Amino acid sequence: MDNCIFCKIINKEVPSKIVYEDERVLAFDDINPRAPIHVLLIPKEHFGTLNEIPEEKKDILSHLLLKARQIAQEKGIAENGYRIVLNTERDSGQEVFHIHFHLLGGRQMKWPPG
Ligand code: AMP
Ligand code: ZN
Repeated sequence: MDNCIFCKIINKEVPSKIVYEDERVLAFDDINPRAPIHVLLIPKEHFGTLNEIPEEKKDILSHLLLKARQIAQEKGIAENGYRIVLNTERDSGQEVFHIHFHLLGGRQMKWPPG
């Protein structure tokens, strides 16, 4: 999608530190990490938010989640724990409107989130 920063990252028009890539998803380091490990996972197909994922495309969500788990395992944070965040629309604080999971770990998290 034109003017979408994450689509530009997928197309390699904008550089990123890629952690994992396959035909459906891309994972890369967050540019402004909020934890020692902060990886973003996105589908290569553009959807603005979770609200825009149609029922017939639901498999992409489980694929993203299990890749987040795999990355957590590979980075050595699976045992201690990690947080996966999916901000959706304005009240959540979503800033980039290409759906993305945040994988955060490597430190103790607080609850509830702000
Ligand atoms: P959200 O508030 O859930 O929309 O999160 C957007 C995230 O994207 C933030 O954590 C930003 O630091 C991150 N971000 C924005 N631009 C880039 C970029 N070019 N490369 C990597 N991460 C980015
Ligand atoms: Zn996009």
